[in-house]
Amino acid sequence: MKITVLGRGNAGCLTALYYSYYTRNQKDIHIELIHDPDIPPEKVGQATVLEPPGLLWKALGINWYDNPIDATPKLGILYENWGKKNHKFFHPFPLNDITLHYTPSKLQDVILESEYFNVEEKHINDYNQIDSDFIFDCRGRHTNKQDDYYNLINPVNSVLLGESNSKECDINWTRAVATPDGWTFVIPKTTQNTSYGYLYNDKITSIEEASANFEKLFDFSKGEIEKKTSLKFNNYIAKRPIIDDRIILGGNRLFFLEPLEATAIQAYLFWAQRTFWWIIDKRSNPNFATQELYKYTTQLQNFILWHYVFGSKYNTPFWRYAQEFTINDDEFHKIVFAIKKFSLIDIIDDRIDIGVSPHGYGQWMPWSFKNWYEGMKNDKS
Ligand SMILES: Cc1cc2nc3c(=O)[nH]c(=O)nc-3n(C[C@H](O)[C@H](O)[C@H](O)COP(=O)(O)OP(=O)(O)OC[C@H]3O[C@@H](n4cnc5c(N)ncnc54)[C@H](O)[C@@H]3O)c2cc1C
Repeated sequence: MKITVLGRGNAGCLTALYYSYYTRNQKDIHIELIHDPDIPPEKVGQATVLEPPGLLWKALGINWYDNPIDATPKLGILYENWGKKNHKFFHPFPLNDITLHYTPSKLQDVILESEYFNVEEKHINDYNQIDSDFIFDCRGRHTNKQDDYYNLINPVNSVLLGESNSKECDINWTRAVATPDGWTFVIPKTTQNTSYGYLYNDKITSIEEASANFEKLFDFSKGEIEKKTSLKFNNYIAKRPIIDDRIILGGNRLFFLEPLEATAIQAYLFWAQRTFWWIIDKRSNPNFATQELYKYTTQLQNFILWHYVFGSKYNTPFWRYAQEFTINDDEFHKIVFAIKKFSLIDIIDDRIDIGVSPHGYGQWMPWSFKNWYEGMKNDKS
């Protein structure tokens, strides 16, 4: 069997690594990755949650001493100015879990040099140029046709990116800072630099206003932060994630959701696993994989939306708009109902049945719901 992955962005690299690592002892399975070196991958995608480091450890042996991607530890997400009660509120990872901030190009280079799969440089216009049994199309979002996608619900659609050449030494988490226009990520990306992303909605805030607020709130006056670029995006999912039982869309060609909670690359591994059950293990099928994907991305959408519903310290047009979203999913409301009845310590104790799925919701266990709910409701400041 031959599998081709198109694209060397985060999605292409992680998909190729997942398939080639888990089929490394199956000599009849050949994996190749093709990309066009004249089309650079996205520069964003610099943080993750708990599962991707597991693959990097297992397949590449990366650890905190032997760290070729120059990653920094991520111990959780510090929410600043969200809700009406707490000035600062932490979404932790369990004390025995840790994940990464990293530079995407370094991560991608290390995976491409791993020799788990062949790498070829070539421009691909047409799937007929490829003779493989399966093709993962991770060629990014730039040639997506809007008609091929459903919208996902989310209040932000634009970002201004910045970078400073320093890292605050005590910051070992992503900061997610609410602003009048949305929120900003502050990512201590390597030991030498910090990335900023000022997210807003361009239908509510002009780029000039967002840019002025970005500078004002993040102290550009010291000259440490440099503005890099701006991006616009839609939040979406493909109508046909799998085409003709052979072409599987991946990464930004498959779906996009804004970066709050940094869900993307873990979602690419979820998709790699669900398609692996069909293609390699032969115990699933394209319809089941697609249903699972839709359920999962709806859950990502909903948990992220829930953050906005509690508002922020700002009473601005953006926050009035963002607070109006409602979440239509019985499973979501069942978890919220359950977590109100139990203490955090009992919810974390997996021997106690709180009456909801023990597999969690999207990328979150019920204790994450409790943690966020308590943080928004309780005054701890
Ligand atoms: C502001 C912002 C912040 C984000 N933060 C995070 C985060 O913290 N964590 C996270 O997980 N995600 C984050 N994301 C999501 C991020 O978009 C993805 O992690 C990542 O960029 C996915 O890109 P990709 O691999 O799909 O495509 P790309 O990175 O665009 O790569 C496309 C690849 O396809 C190749 N290609 C294109 N056309 C052709 C062709 N015709 N022939 C051959 N090759 C071709 C290119 O050469 C390239 O290698 C963020 C996104 C945004 C906008």
